[in-house]
Formats: sequence, C-alpha cells, structure tokens
Amino acid sequence: MTEQAQIVVKNLHKYFGKLEVLKGINVNIEKGEVVCVIGPSGSGKSTFLRCLNRLEEATDGEIVIDGEMITKPETDINKVRRHIGMVFQQFNLFPHLSAKQNIMMAPLELKLKSKKDAEAKALELLDRVGLSEKADVMPRQLSGGQQQRVAIARALAMEPDVMLFDEPTSALDPEMVGEVLAVMKELASMGMTMVVVTHEMGFAKDAADRVLFMDEGIIMEQGTPEKMFTNPENPRTIEFLNKVL
Ligand code: ADP
Ligand code: MG
Repeated sequence: MTEQAQIVVKNLHKYFGKLEVLKGINVNIEKGEVVCVIGPSGSGKSTFLRCLNRLEEATDGEIVIDGEMITKPETDINKVRRHIGMVFQQFNLFPHLSAKQNIMMAPLELKLKSKKDAEAKALELLDRVGLSEKADVMPRQLSGGQQQRVAIARALAMEPDVMLFDEPTSALDPEMVGEVLAVMKELASMGMTMVVVTHEMGFAKDAADRVLFMDEGIIMEQGTPEKMFTNPENPRTIEFLNKVL
C-alpha cells in the first residue's frame, strides 16, 4: 500500500467573484516536510494557505489532510483546524490576556486540557520560544518579535500536525526577524510539517526541503532550495529572484 502524503492538493481553484485567484494547484506535502512558498504580491499565496484550513472555501478541487477530505462541506472543519496551526503576519494576540493566558486559551475553551495541564504546557512552550520570563506579561509590553513568538507558542498549544505561516516576519522591525525565524527553524528541525509563505529567502534556503514559486495562481516552478536559488528554469522565477535577491 502506498502511504498518502500528509497534505494532498488536487486541482485547487479559487474564485473571488469573477476573479480567478487559484488556477489549478496540485501539490503533495509529506509529513515533516518544510515547504516555503514564494512569489510576487497578489499571486495567490495567502489564498492558497487559507484554503488549507478552510479560512477560504475552495471553488473547485480537493484538499486532503491526514486522510481527511477537508473540502467536503460536511467535514467538521473545527475538528480539522485543531490539527492545523496558523500564524499570521499580524500576530493578533488577545490584548487583555497575558502571554501565558493567550497560550492556554484555546485548549481550555475547547476543554482539551485541565487548567493545570494547560498552564504547564503554556510554560513549556514559552520556554521553547525563549520567553520563560514573560509568562505574566501583557502583549503591549512585548516587542513585535516577542509577540510573534507567543503567537507561535499559542498555535503549538493545540499540538498541531501541520503549521501554516503567512509572512510571519513581514510586520516586524528588521532586528526582530531573526529571533522569530530561529524559533521556526527549531520547529522545522523537530519534524513539524510546515508550509511557510515568506519573503525571507535566507530562511527558505536554510530551512526548506522544497520551495514553491507561485505566480498568477499556479505553481510555476518548484524544487529544492538549491535548485530554485542557483538554477531556476522558468523565466518568471528568474525575474522574481532577480528582484528579491
Ligand atoms: P498574495 O498572498 O500572493 O499576495 P493573495 O492570495 O492575498 O495574494 O491575493 C491574490 C488575489 O486575490 C489578489 O488579486 C487579491 O486582491 C485577491 N483577493 C484576496 N482575498 C480576496 C477577497 N477576500 N476578496 C476578493 N479578492 C481577494
Ligand atoms: Mg499574502
């Protein structure tokens, strides 16, 4: 029997009204794989990521994650989302909750853990993202980089099988980008399946198993970082990399 990839995307199409934003995406992502998605603004990267946890409904096509066809309307999407963590450009921490409380919130709300266990897990995760000292601090007292690390810890509190990142460092001051990327690299090295939309080509080179170049709603080219950054073939990839590298 052949093992199915952890994420299977078949012929994914997405329209917003008459605008066709995704024009047939086909990709398989293996368990533990780190996939970076690069491409120009407006090429559909965020829409693709959002379709993976049904923040956007696919217009056509299929997405199967961990054997579950999430594009079926009858799928319990809240159940699916528990296994898919997402981190956005804007970290959106709850401003009235401390770092620790932000991380404990979802497992408690969903009654997945006792308060004691949720707290222990939150402290463990804060330690993992290098913020043990900040457990009781409110978001406004944290730097952008620290807030984003709390947001990553909050997503990890649900013990996801897959983590989606949509330009997690784009809203940060340059000096804070490194600390967030370091946490993501650590996560990648621990075997997390990750799909990362990023402009950080250095991160893609170091941490990705595979790089997808998206343009005009399709995957124009894909390959290992080595191939994509040293020997891209598609003229659109070459043009894009010339602009950003
Ligand atoms: P990227 O993340 O690569 O910059 P997006 O996926 O955000 O691209 O957007 C792709 C296209 O879809 C853009 O033309 C954008 O304006 C459009 N789009 C994105 N979200 C919506 C929406 N909710 N309604 C209408 N158009 C949208
Ligand atoms: Mg985007």
